[in-house]
Amino acid sequence: MDSKDDNRPMIQVQNVSKWFGSLKVLDEISFDVNEGEVVVMVGPSGSGKSTLLRCINFLEEFQEGNIYVDGKLVGYRDVHVDGTDVRRRQSEAEISRLRTTAGMVFQNYNLFPHRTALDNVMMGPLMFHSRSKSEIRDECMALLEKVGLADKASSFPSRLSGGQQQRIAIARSLAMHPKVILFDEVTSALDPELVEEVLRTIRDLSKEGMTMIIVTHEMQFARDVADRLLFFYQGKILEDGNPRDIFANPVTDRFKTFVRRFSQAHQPLTA
Ligand code: ADP
Ligand code: MG
Repeated sequence: MDSKDDNRPMIQVQNVSKWFGSLKVLDEISFDVNEGEVVVMVGPSGSGKSTLLRCINFLEEFQEGNIYVDGKLVGYRDVHVDGTDVRRRQSEAEISRLRTTAGMVFQNYNLFPHRTALDNVMMGPLMFHSRSKSEIRDECMALLEKVGLADKASSFPSRLSGGQQQRIAIARSLAMHPKVILFDEVTSALDPELVEEVLRTIRDLSKEGMTMIIVTHEMQFARDVADRLLFFYQGKILEDGNPRDIFANPVTDRFKTFVRRFSQAHQPLTA
């Protein structure tokens, strides 16, 4: 069913638990993301943020709970065997389709080094979309324009700054026409002076109504851009709400400690 039910959230995460061996890294996580909503996840290192994004894109399996993206069950289907429902992995084709619905942008942009910026953006649609090459090229050029890099179309990644490479990676994700984009610490590997240009690109997408989940350590950005903030701690969501409310009035001391430690650790050295 492809018709969009107006009331249905774009992403539904329902009681998801995941273990790595005996370590429970996601502990009954539940939340919804509505169409056009920007959800920002913060939390200490190791609290499960990346793992959750990877589960939404089914780069990781999970043992309990359900995730729906645009109404479709992620990764599994229930098969009726001898009177009981058994979870089976979806076909690789179904999983590939899911990954085009939910695009993901990583900390290390993973561009192909021997392809130009434009070729990097065109590769996905050339493989998955049945449109003419010139149509795809025009659209991908427009995407480079949108991230401010039309003049770098024929440059190879090694000739681009980290911020420019990351913006190419965002254009590459957009080229697949995703319904949601998952960003995992996309500015963490960048020199400080390059962070803003990438955040600006993400801000522009939010203004256009793109549905996004963003894991970041940029607290000011989180406050500005998030419709909703989730605070992860040891595989659980301890805070969930409007960022202004959470920063002004956190429910948990853990969040206060996190923000305090965090801002101390990020003091400029030459204060
Ligand atoms: P975050 O992104 O919030 O820093 P992660 O989701 O990367 O946290 O990690 C959550 C927990 O899962 C951590 O304890 C981490 O060590 C563990 N973990 C992550 N990936 C693996 C893996 N492939 N195998 C075993 N443990 C893992
Ligand atoms: Mg992480």
